[in-house]
Amino acid sequence: MQQDSVYWGRTRILYTYRFSRRKTLALSVHPDLAVTVIAPEGTSLEAIRDKVKKRGAWIRQAWREYQLYLPHQPARSYVNGETHRYLGRQYRLKTQQGEADSVKCLRGYMWVTTCQEPNPERVQELLEGWYRDHARKVFYERLEICCSRAALVGIATPTLRIQKLAKRWGSCSEGGRILLNLELIKAPKDCIDYVITHELCHLREKHHGPRFWRLLEKLMPDYEDRRKLLNLFADV
Ligand SMILES: [Zn+2]
Repeated sequence: MQQDSVYWGRTRILYTYRFSRRKTLALSVHPDLAVTVIAPEGTSLEAIRDKVKKRGAWIRQAWREYQLYLPHQPARSYVNGETHRYLGRQYRLKTQQGEADSVKCLRGYMWVTTCQEPNPERVQELLEGWYRDHARKVFYERLEICCSRAALVGIATPTLRIQKLAKRWGSCSEGGRILLNLELIKAPKDCIDYVITHELCHLREKHHGPRFWRLLEKLMPDYEDRRKLLNLFADV
């Protein structure tokens, strides 16, 4: 893999390229906004640069679509009274000192109990652990549901990883693995299903071309509404 960049108008397009035995040049934009080129052996750098420049408008459009679901993460201070979300609902944070460390989500409140006098660092640590546990449970549950539908069009169940991602709700890798942003546990289940199904479709169609959107619509006819909800929710 080598790196290069070209200018498309005033937009700098940074990309990596490599050569292979294929006959035509393949250009891809990935969910993390990376641009990659696989070129036939013997292609000159000049020819690669020309091709990237020619696809400039398409690359920018692909970036925009990916950026549509960059999660918005407001700063949190982990003090009493602050609101935190879980599956789209708001809960007010209540911190207290008690016998053992625990987190409980109850009747509109997120109760965080710490052995020591509560401090924001410890509250954050406990709360994130709680989110992680629940994300694991909920995401696997939703994945199973989404996969049962995707199986009808022959998409195999991928493995799942959950991670904090700075720039996106989810991604998928060629090895059939889906990565979901831990933050997604704060969004409604309808949105979680949208991100999972979107990534499942990428296992079949790598790019956001017409075939991709047709496949997504087939699996999830109301995906537009869910996507809007996710964007709306992300700005709150
Ligand atoms: Zn996508």
